[in-house]
Amino acid sequence: MRPEDVLCPTPAGLCSEAGGFHIDPTRPVAKALITHGHSDHARPGHGAVLATQETLDIMRLRYGDNFAKTTQAIEYGETIKLGKVTAKFVPAGHCLGSAQIAVERDGMRVVASGDYKDVRDPTCAPFELVKCDVFITEATFGLPVFHHPDPAEEIGKLLKSIKLFPERAHLVGAYSLGKAQRVIAMLREAGYDQRIYLHGAMEKITRYYETRGVRLGPLALVRDTKKADLAGTITLCPPSATQDVWTRRFPDPLAAFASGWMRVRARARQGGIELPLVVSDHADWSGLTATIKATGAGEIWVTHGQEDALVHWSQQQGLKARPLDIVGYGDEDEHETISEPDAPVPSPASGGGFGRGNDALSPPPGELRSPTSPAGGRGKKR
Ligand SMILES: [Zn+2]
Repeated sequence: MRPEDVLCPTPAGLCSEAGGFHIDPTRPVAKALITHGHSDHARPGHGAVLATQETLDIMRLRYGDNFAKTTQAIEYGETIKLGKVTAKFVPAGHCLGSAQIAVERDGMRVVASGDYKDVRDPTCAPFELVKCDVFITEATFGLPVFHHPDPAEEIGKLLKSIKLFPERAHLVGAYSLGKAQRVIAMLREAGYDQRIYLHGAMEKITRYYETRGVRLGPLALVRDTKKADLAGTITLCPPSATQDVWTRRFPDPLAAFASGWMRVRARARQGGIELPLVVSDHADWSGLTATIKATGAGEIWVTHGQEDALVHWSQQQGLKARPLDIVGYGDEDEHETISEPDAPVPSPASGGGFGRGNDALSPPPGELRSPTSPAGGRGKKR
């Protein structure tokens, strides 16, 4: 039995011919197993979709009720039979509901890990190691220079900045599915109990996290809050929002960005980020290489990111390794576009919205800031 008889890379994504399905297909297919809700992995338009309940719910929130013809929720640890293979969903530690998918046929086990991290995250189940013959890994941060620091220390930097600049509104750019909720949960773990504000694009997903038992403390929407009341507060917003006219709603805004890419100083500077926070939902180099070793796999397939270095490293370890040329996966921090403007949306009849602050805010008069202004050029320099 060859691994390709279990799971085979195709231009549309990983395909199990023997099981009659694809994993995270980049094109519409009859049956899709989806690892997690980020839009490069979870796309609308498939026939049947099998995923964790959370991933299905997130797809429904993003794409509407008709995102697939049929859906089937799979529990972590549950093994399902599909054609000649079995598939098991195992936590990937990447975001709420994220799963690795272990596909097995006649004793040959191939694990498609999707995106993953081996670092604690209070908003999702921790990564679980699965021993396997072939491990399919991402390589978003697959270079030895990538070492993610302790995320708690990065959150500490944000709290320190709030203390130092109590009159400035701290805007934290964060991907709206996963990263934003993780930052909020880590702020709570660090003892920050003040109200945290949200851009409207994050409302639905964040409220969903709360319904799944993730405790995020007092939250409010920026659009329900007066400008003056936002001094000295923390707001989570999509990364691009820290650089647009939306920031005029805030007194003396300070732009932060929570991303693994903030390890690269030039990126922070380019983006006009005053406070880079290195918080990643992807494994760093030591996480990737330690995970590969621990799986015991003799063969490594690398799907996206910095494939070459990880393939080379694996071969040096005596493993078979190759890059998979599947086009269409990326890094969510880099590619998020705001799908919803920060405008009022009707509350559900049942209520359950966030605490409403003050009157609705109309955009204050003021000069438009250039999105290309250099770091430190925004707001007052101190
Ligand atoms: Zn992802």
